Amino acid sequence: IWQRPYKWDDNVNVANRMIFGNEAFRENQREIINATKSGKNVLALIPTGGGKSLTFQLSAVTDTGVTFVVMPLLSLIDDNLQFVLDLGIPSCSLSTSGNSQKEDRRISDLYKDIRSLQYKLVYLTPERLVKSPALLSLIDFLASQGKIDRFVIDEVHCVSHWGQDFRKDYLHLDFLKEKYPSVPLLCLTATATIKVKDDIVKRLKIDRDYAFFQSSFNRPNLVYEIRDKKQFKNVNDDLVQMLRTRFRGKSGIIYCISRKECEKLAETLSKNYSIKCDYYHAELSYNRRQEVQARWMKNEIQIIIATIAFGMGINKRDVRFVIHYSMPKSLEGYVQECGRAGRDQQKAECILYYAYGDRKRNDFFIITNQGSSGSRKNENIHALYAILDYCEEPYLCRRKMQLNFLGEDFDEGRCNKMCDNCRKGLQVVESDRSREAQVVVKFIQRCQDYQNRVTAKQVTELLRGKKPKKNFLRQDILEEYQGRLKTMKESDIKRLIVQLLIMRVLKERFETQTIRGTSVKNIIVFITVSPSRPALLKALENGKLPVL
Ligand code: ADP
Repeated sequence: IWQRPYKWDDNVNVANRMIFGNEAFRENQREIINATKSGKNVLALIPTGGGKSLTFQLSAVTDTGVTFVVMPLLSLIDDNLQFVLDLGIPSCSLSTSGNSQKEDRRISDLYKDIRSLQYKLVYLTPERLVKSPALLSLIDFLASQGKIDRFVIDEVHCVSHWGQDFRKDYLHLDFLKEKYPSVPLLCLTATATIKVKDDIVKRLKIDRDYAFFQSSFNRPNLVYEIRDKKQFKNVNDDLVQMLRTRFRGKSGIIYCISRKECEKLAETLSKNYSIKCDYYHAELSYNRRQEVQARWMKNEIQIIIATIAFGMGINKRDVRFVIHYSMPKSLEGYVQECGRAGRDQQKAECILYYAYGDRKRNDFFIITNQGSSGSRKNENIHALYAILDYCEEPYLCRRKMQLNFLGEDFDEGRCNKMCDNCRKGLQVVESDRSREAQVVVKFIQRCQDYQNRVTAKQVTELLRGKKPKKNFLRQDILEEYQGRLKTMKESDIKRLIVQLLIMRVLKERFETQTIRGTSVKNIIVFITVSPSRPALLKALENGKLPVL
């Protein structure tokens, strides 16, 4: 569709060298610039540090009109604005935290200058764009003159409920395409799930006509490792040992699953071990959060201990480690959180402490969301199985798993032994577990036939030969199945169950029970055989379903 060579080729090359000081373009940058300058709507997924900003900054300086850039946070705007101002690109921001008369005057002066095309880049938050009538009439005017080169929507995943950072005001951005169909949208994000992608283009009404770019999400400088919590008497001992040796004096983030966990860990590390750290979560005041982040940016504190509320707008280049203190909620979230390490392209480490029991929090999340739509619940369950599968995996390259999950091919040879599984150098043995899988499935089916409800733990223990604590099974089933898989390790059976869940051969039922004599609620997860997959069951029976 687009004419090559482009009439702007020379300008773009020269500007990249002379204004931005870059020798070359990174993956997809040039293609995105050509597409947006051709008037195409664009959605581009580029991993953190991949150079999203250049695509709109360079397009703007080589165009004649104005580019509006929507960003969700003032801190992001300030960083980006400072960067282009330092390069001498006339730019301004319409969003400020102040609300004084003086500020209002400043803004209306800016409107005049924007109207007369004094600025190449105009930054603003979605709130400002949606709520300011004066601004909307300015945009109307510029659009009618054909002077708006494009609307850039940064961190565009905020428009989707499926993402972690959903923002209501992003939803209203759908008016841009409705009202100004001829002004191209340039949508950018570091999130890489197909589901979020589809949601974005629908919500912003560009699904019928857009160019899509996805850069590789491989981050070759990051090392991935999973540490089994069970091998430590106390996880904190191991953590402190690491912080005092390989991460001594280095900047990092520790992600916790809850606010309470953050606070407790921060207290333990600082009081008992004199490690310079502080905590960060959504319940802290805005000022307090800013302060903690600023002190960490300046290396006054070594480690920030945070929930996933600490995410967008972190622009520290020398983060040497990201540690997950508990299993994260989803694999895509995990990849994104790890992505905050090593933005300077130097080696950085991502360590995840894992215990199967960590899934309890996910179970809780699924139970409390039960009222929400069925697809939402399924989504949460699916996310749980994906991260469990990742954590339980003893052989496959972690990088390969992550990238395949995000829909990208990856040859594990390119991992360069930068993950624990590749480093272990274990031969990849594709052992066929169909027979064992059949035993698991048949056993659960038998229990079900007699209304005996079982949990994964009970299944694992019984098949390994342990005598059940309570007599919850019919004697004949017990006799038939007890110890049938006694040569398998507990973790291998668990993994088999997780795989059967992912394949939807098995299904989980989440129930809350009140612990007798108290008001404490407990979540119990029973396993059943999924009736909806007869073909899979049949394949399994015939030994045709490869289970690793
Ligand atoms: P992100 O995709 O995370 O928003 P940025 O736009 O902040 O990434 O870019 C990350 C860094 O890479 C910045 O320091 C930027 O100047 C640099 N960069 C971007 N494109 C190029 C390029 N083509 N050549 C060299 N450096 C680049």
